[in-house]
Amino acid sequence: MSPSGANKNPLSRAAGGERFCRPDSPRADTYKTKRDSMKQMKFSGRAEDAIRSALLAWFRRNARSLPWRKSRDPYAIWVSEVMLQQTQVATVIPYYQRFLEAFPTVADLARAPLERVLQLWSGLGYYRRARYLHQAAKELVRSFAEVFPRDYEQVRSLPGVGDYTARAVLSIAFGLPYTLLDGNVARVLSRLVALRGNLHQPGFRRVVEAQLERLLSPRSPGDFNQSLMELGQTLCLPRAPRCADCPVRSWCRVTNPAGLNFTLSHVPGARRNPITLPPPSSGAGREWPWCGAWTTAC
Ligand code: SF4
Repeated sequence: MSPSGANKNPLSRAAGGERFCRPDSPRADTYKTKRDSMKQMKFSGRAEDAIRSALLAWFRRNARSLPWRKSRDPYAIWVSEVMLQQTQVATVIPYYQRFLEAFPTVADLARAPLERVLQLWSGLGYYRRARYLHQAAKELVRSFAEVFPRDYEQVRSLPGVGDYTARAVLSIAFGLPYTLLDGNVARVLSRLVALRGNLHQPGFRRVVEAQLERLLSPRSPGDFNQSLMELGQTLCLPRAPRCADCPVRSWCRVTNPAGLNFTLSHVPGARRNPITLPPPSSGAGREWPWCGAWTTAC
């Protein structure tokens, strides 16, 4: 829940801010330069502090109870991150629990025969993940004395560990200030600042990354990263965001201006039939079915 009213939103009309752009305008899609984009997206330092606090408070009150969230063990968090790649949370939970029961430590995993690891992975798919996990466990035992490294380059040197997984483990397990950008996070941020784009476009990605860097909580980067992911997974949904319950709705540009028109480029026929949002006074509240449906096409 936001601690402030609409007037405190530096981007709202009430606050005299006219910096948001209509999301159906060409400006929303294509900024001439990265500098233009940054100018459009920038929140004041005060607003960033407030957004950060609101996200963290909401996450601490509302975070789903997931088994890997009960641990700060980098090994357990690493296993969960690998399992969650391309796989739904509900699917992963029983696999994660069985895996950690069978291999409670990295040394247990390294000692296990590959066949046993694959057996426990059976049904989860993308079996290369399990092979890499096993290889990386052996490497952790051989070269790191069973201690998960805190250094980004060392983590990346482990078999199968990419940038995202390294950042996830370092921020969540060790509290190091690494941002995490996935499709959910990009959707939340792009709606918050009313910028449409696609994560596969380098320019858009850089702008979102820069915004994320500014918002990141230096004290609780792990919780901050998880709060944005949780928001994208539970409230800021692709097609029907639940804005009424959103902790950052006071700052979100898509909830303030009345009568925004925009086109959902990912919906067949939407370009021919742009959707007009009702003004807030119409009684539709913030449960507009297409409210801020910017997507990242990820
Ligand atoms: S107010 Fe709505 S669109 Fe904006 S971030 Fe929250 S859930 Fe997403």
